Amino acid sequence: MTGAPDVPTPLADARSRLAGVQGILLDLDGVILLRGEAIPGAPEAVARFATLGIPYRILTNTSLVSRDTLSGRLARLGIHVPAAWIVSALSATAGLARDEFAGSPIYLLASPDARREFAGQWLVSHAEADAGAEVVAVVIGDSPEELTFANIDRAFRFLHRGARLVAMHRNRWWLTRAGPTIDAGAYVAGLEYAAGVTATVVGKPTREFFVRALDDLAVGPLDDVLMVGDDLHLDAGSSLDLGLRSAHVLTGRHDLADVRAAARGEPPAAGSPIVPTVVLPSLADVADALEPSVG
Ligand SMILES: [Mg+2]
Repeated sequence: MTGAPDVPTPLADARSRLAGVQGILLDLDGVILLRGEAIPGAPEAVARFATLGIPYRILTNTSLVSRDTLSGRLARLGIHVPAAWIVSALSATAGLARDEFAGSPIYLLASPDARREFAGQWLVSHAEADAGAEVVAVVIGDSPEELTFANIDRAFRFLHRGARLVAMHRNRWWLTRAGPTIDAGAYVAGLEYAAGVTATVVGKPTREFFVRALDDLAVGPLDDVLMVGDDLHLDAGSSLDLGLRSAHVLTGRHDLADVRAAARGEPPAAGSPIVPTVVLPSLADVADALEPSVG
């Protein structure tokens, strides 16, 4: 698709562009939840995917809480998603750490609940860090209470002595009740700058993160999978690059002005144009577009 996008996409066009979709990857924040509340129509839309027989997984850079906690929070909002259907930057990072650092100490900056995903792994405490413990890696995620100067400074000292830096993601900002709110990416970038290292990033937009969810979804051709997101770079751009189809919804981070700018290759795109397969007001409209035509 080239040229100026017709946005939002008319329903009839959306239906034909999404024909044959067999599986869905759903972003969480800005698509299902916003500022901790369910987005209107999202709980019903998620239930309709099940009715339509279209399997889905949630693919989110959220690293603040464990999948169990996330699943419980969603259930209280009327959205019933088993923890096993959630692929988060946190769970994927815990998996990477299990694979690559098994039996070796790591320094983890994450909320107490998020640490549950690392059960059984060797986590060095702040006190042990101060007592001269060594680690093979510093792992950093979202955590307002853990991303303090003292902890970032401890992390820096480990990196300065040669530890590897692993970032659950490097998101710039997200929407909270306070408005646009700084995210963990700034701390990752700061540590890279100070220590002269490059982080291994685990969550979106990395190919490995998508592959983890796609393997679990086990749907045929990549073109039969639809990624629904509110971020033109992390969700739309990276899924289109992989060969998936992309639905951009307007309930979160990027609005119509961003859609038009990205189509020209301007930020939030990074040089090459990003044109989602469809642009729709909300997840409810995505469900409508996937519904067999009712005339
Ligand atoms: Mg989002």
